[in-house]
Amino acid sequence: MKETTRAIHTPYQRRDAFDALQMPVYHTMAYEFDNAAVMADAFCGRTNAPDYSRVLNPTVTHFEEIIRGLTGAREVSAFTSGMAAISAMLLSTVQAGQNVVSSRHLFGNTYLLLTNTLRRFGVEARLTDLTDPQLVEKVVDRNTACIFLETVTNPQTEVADIRELSKIAAAYRIPLIADTTMIPFTQFDGESLGIDFQVVSSTKYISGGATSLGGLIIDYGHFPEISRLIKKDAIFNLGGYMTPHAAYMQTLGLETLNVRYDRQSDSAMKIARKLESTPGVKGIGYPGLESHPDHALFKELYGDRGGAMITFELADAEQCFKFINALKLVHRATNLFDNRTLAIHPASTIFGPFSEAERAAMDIKPTTIRLSIGLEDPEDIYADLSQAIAAATSK
Ligand SMILES: *Cc1c(COP(=O)(O)O)cnc(C)c1O
Repeated sequence: MKETTRAIHTPYQRRDAFDALQMPVYHTMAYEFDNAAVMADAFCGRTNAPDYSRVLNPTVTHFEEIIRGLTGAREVSAFTSGMAAISAMLLSTVQAGQNVVSSRHLFGNTYLLLTNTLRRFGVEARLTDLTDPQLVEKVVDRNTACIFLETVTNPQTEVADIRELSKIAAAYRIPLIADTTMIPFTQFDGESLGIDFQVVSSTKYISGGATSLGGLIIDYGHFPEISRLIKKDAIFNLGGYMTPHAAYMQTLGLETLNVRYDRQSDSAMKIARKLESTPGVKGIGYPGLESHPDHALFKELYGDRGGAMITFELADAEQCFKFINALKLVHRATNLFDNRTLAIHPASTIFGPFSEAERAAMDIKPTTIRLSIGLEDPEDIYADLSQAIAAATSK
């Protein structure tokens, strides 16, 4: 069966008492046992019967199982948010005295996790240009615990050459960890690209239109000790396991994932092409466009569809504010891959708390607008964008 079918038809482990067609939400925190021996087996991990919902819940397990089937992963673990998954991943991989090699172009909280939170525990962040394998080779050393990349950086829309980076990671026998939030895992085979662990904010594409927060670690089983630490240490001791209600909503989201991705990408492509010739627009960041510097690499890795995020440039921050204020249909909001189209000025919002020097180092420009294209009719979306651009750029 193809992915679109499997996302809907993965059976759950046991038949429900009422033959429920959808996975029931097991809103229970504890589970009762027939006798002490069965109970001891469950608590000591000799069986996989759930005992407490901070560490195991059938609704969450079902969600994880569908993703395991779709990705071919050894293990999938679901968390309360993307950041919970990323922090559990890194805390299971690095130790004091080691370093993490990554990019200057990172999701804001991942950047701060590496440069502030983990630094307090003696972990060094080596942030470099991941598009240049020679630079990466220069900073990786015997104390490097992992290489951490994002498939498409936001809002710079830079595409990582995963296969090149995986060669470096393999040479040092360290995991290549990829934040694949920007392209759903149904669009590529992570393991064959050389990824050891995917981390995902399932809040974005997976949740089915901003229904719930969620995060994933998709583990191909290449580093058994790290897998063990995720499943035992991180889930038990850090407490970021997904809740059953979120798992239910995200299971529904999975059922429509490919349909939404196709539609949103196709609309984004139409809109990006129109923005290319819209007066006042100074540049576009969309990897689906032939004019994007990483277009060929993007296409090789992820196919013809370019995803739902577009960035474009206006002349200055003042024009960006005027544009945001003139929107009538498109929502002034953060988040990505909602069913509605969203617009934000990253420099003054998501990256507003950073210093000007930090923003410059991260290539966050005051002239950039970020769009997440939704499921509305693309002509309606473009009509609103073009009237707001005209209002922002007219003298
Ligand atoms: C949103 C996002 C995250 C964080 O996910 P949350 O679910 O908000 O915690 C991490 N990485 C990327 C690329 C994101 O877009």
